[in-house]
Parts: sequence; structure tokens; C-alpha cells
Amino acid sequence: MPTKEALVKRTIINDQTCDRCRLATETPFHALWSCSEVDVVWADQTLWDFRNHVGFNDFKQLVSWIVEEGKPIERFTWMVWAIWNQRNQVRVRAPAIALHHVAEVSRSSLTEYRSRLSTTELLDEPHSHHSQTRWLPPPGNLVKINFDGAVFSRENISGIGVVVRDENGLVLGSCTKRLSQAYSVMETEAMEAATALVFASELGVRQAILKGDSLAVIKALIETKYPLSPLGLEDVRMFSQRFDKMLYSHTKREGNFVAHSLARYPISIPDFLVWTEDVPPHVQKFVQADLASFS
Ligand SMILES: [Zn+2]
Repeated sequence: MPTKEALVKRTIINDQTCDRCRLATETPFHALWSCSEVDVVWADQTLWDFRNHVGFNDFKQLVSWIVEEGKPIERFTWMVWAIWNQRNQVRVRAPAIALHHVAEVSRSSLTEYRSRLSTTELLDEPHSHHSQTRWLPPPGNLVKINFDGAVFSRENISGIGVVVRDENGLVLGSCTKRLSQAYSVMETEAMEAATALVFASELGVRQAILKGDSLAVIKALIETKYPLSPLGLEDVRMFSQRFDKMLYSHTKREGNFVAHSLARYPISIPDFLVWTEDVPPHVQKFVQADLASFS
């Protein structure tokens, strides 16, 4: 995050003092949370009363605490985004809203975002209803990356499955990863997408379409003007920069059987398994079924 502290470290500027209070170094934690000038933004005591009595060392610790304590992480994300946005507007002397309006603006943008999430059409291939429910080869020179995840709450682990295929439906590689903890759905989905991109880039893929059946993740990645959850989607966007071209698209479960069955595999593996130009034997039948469905 390009706070003044970070810019000083990179020797881009010399003064790391917060422009709002002129009293402290502008770290992410200071700029977004502890600066006395943003008291007015976090004034809603029903939501943020812990700001006055819980101490944190840094921003990361604050975010983890909010997640662990079940505090409204989505509200928090939007607030932080609005504060940072307002700070940037002021810094470049662009028209900015007053700080005491930030909380209200953040609340209404979140409401608007939620209503869009529930009303926007599915982002699927614009063909017949058939295409939404089966695997289709990627268009043009793209490679298709399908990912999925599974949570095994009883065993307290999560699994991630990724399969990378070319325009003929041939498998370039597949992997399955075990996470030694049952994460929340949103966290797992963000980690799935990140794993998928890292795996594909390591296979040498440069142009791809990323397909998952998590509508929230795919939408968040497509809607670039919305803030990403602090739970890991920033990583996904960062990894996407390793590619020359990256498209995102949602698929229904029926178009994602291979990744789905790969994600359910980790219950029986130690950590991370990769198959180059192949999938594990028990997943083979889903690859064949996908091939048969379009050829
Ligand atoms: Zn300050």
C-alpha cells in the first residue's frame, strides 16, 4: 500500500508524516484506523466501539482480529476503502468528500454493491442455456483454468482443485492442495483463485480465462472499481498481473466437475500434488465427459 511510510522506504518522498494529523508516521494502520483525524469516520459505537479499547500492532493484526471476532468485515473493508480513497483525493487536490461523510458514503456504496450482486445476471458464456451447465473449451488462444474448493469440517481441513486445459480440452496440468484448516467459504474461495493463478503461471500459461463457481469471487475480480476483500483477493489480482491476458468468468457446478473432484481429493493426500499434462486416475472420467460434451 503506497502510504507515505512506504514511499519514504522506496525513497520516493522524504517525509513520512501523516498529512491529516501531522503527528505520526503514515502507516496503513495509522492512516486507516488509529489517526485521530479519522475518529469521526469510526464514530459509530454500535459497530466500532472496540477501536477505543482494543490495541493492535498493525493493520494485519487488526484485520485478523475482526475476522476472528466475527465483526462486520465487509463493512470494515468498505470503510477502509472509503477512507483511503478520500485520503488520495485530498492528496492530489481532487474534489473529496468531507471526512464526517465518509462513513455514510461507505454504507450506501455497500448497499448499492449488495443490490447489484443480487440483480446482475450471471457472467456466463453468452450462448444457449446448455453452455452454462457443461464445460466448454476456451475461446481463441486462451487457456482455461477451472478451480474449486471443498471444506471438510469434520477433519478440519480444506481442499483446492485446479485444472488447466487448452482449446482442445487437453489437460496441461492439474493440482490438488490441502489446507490444514477449515477456512470460511470466502477465504477458501480467494485462496482457490490465487492457487489457480500461481499454478497456471508456473505451467507457463500467459493468456487465460479463469473459471470458478464462486459468483462472489468472480464478480469481485471483474468489478475492478470495487474494493477487494482483505481476505486475500488482492493476492489474486496481484498474481493475475503475471499474465498477458486474464479474463474471469463464472461457471455452474456442472461445468466444473474436474476441478470439483480434484478439490475433494486432499482428504487423502499430505499437502500438494501436481499432475503434468494429466489428472489423477479417478478424475479422468470427468475429463472424458467434458471432452465428449463438446467434440
Ligand atoms: Zn494522522
